[in-house]
Amino acid sequence: MKSAFFLLVPALLSTLLFSSWTPPASHAQFRNSYSGRQLPPARPGGGGGGARPAAGGPAGVYPQALFNGKVVRWVQDQMPLKVYLSKGSSIDGFLDEELGVPRTNVDGKHRWPHLVAEIIDNGQINNLPMADGFVEPHYEAALQGINYWKAFEKEGLFQFVLTNDPSDADIYVFWTHHFVNKLGLGLFANDIRGYTSKEIFDYKLILQGKQPLFQPVVILLRTSNQQGAPMSNDKMRASAGHEFGHALGIDQHSTNPYDLMSVYYGRGVLSNNDAATIRYIYKRQPDYIP
Ligand SMILES: [Zn+2]
Repeated sequence: MKSAFFLLVPALLSTLLFSSWTPPASHAQFRNSYSGRQLPPARPGGGGGGARPAAGGPAGVYPQALFNGKVVRWVQDQMPLKVYLSKGSSIDGFLDEELGVPRTNVDGKHRWPHLVAEIIDNGQINNLPMADGFVEPHYEAALQGINYWKAFEKEGLFQFVLTNDPSDADIYVFWTHHFVNKLGLGLFANDIRGYTSKEIFDYKLILQGKQPLFQPVVILLRTSNQQGAPMSNDKMRASAGHEFGHALGIDQHSTNPYDLMSVYYGRGVLSNNDAATIRYIYKRQPDYIP
């Protein structure tokens, strides 16, 4: 995922954080509202806890992982995270009526969660076409990439499971042949293989009883490479692992090209820095949660 979008985030955040609240509820709840699921009230500090390490953090932690210096991550009440990894489904068919281009255009990335919430509500999620360029091995490669992060479950950082039920997941993975911008122009030339879009909510307000309208986190993976041929399995694995890192909370990109969370996808696997960074995030109190 690349930079231009991140520039939008600070401006968006103020809108999103305040537009999506519903009236205060007596208990903080952590499931996506559209799933209708209710969880027990939050415990203050519920999720990881631990004292804040000194600024800068331990060796290997890249500061770009934070959102304006703030920690974004899931909390224990949201575990296990449910991941809907679709078998090649495309959501490119939903058009932005004003622009006449797919709502999945990358300039409208911040609205992807609303698109997915909408098609969950109206059932269209159960009847999606397959993305051009998707081949069966892409699914397995993406799953392997996502599962890079399984290593941290035994450390108690988070847990996630796959679900086949698209009406009740926290993180959704769909596919696209290639990305387009708001003009509908294909972004063929670059090596951006995926994007992740998530809305985040002020954790302190949630603990005070405010009820956010949680939105699904949406990952789109590109099925074709710069030449238009199917993405290789190695690249797909790296792509899915990278995007899942964003879904878990890593905000921007490591500037070290050897990290999976750099725009270069590193060596295609988690680096020591990636590991140090996710541990750092999950051992601190969150400021925002998806
Ligand atoms: Zn990225």
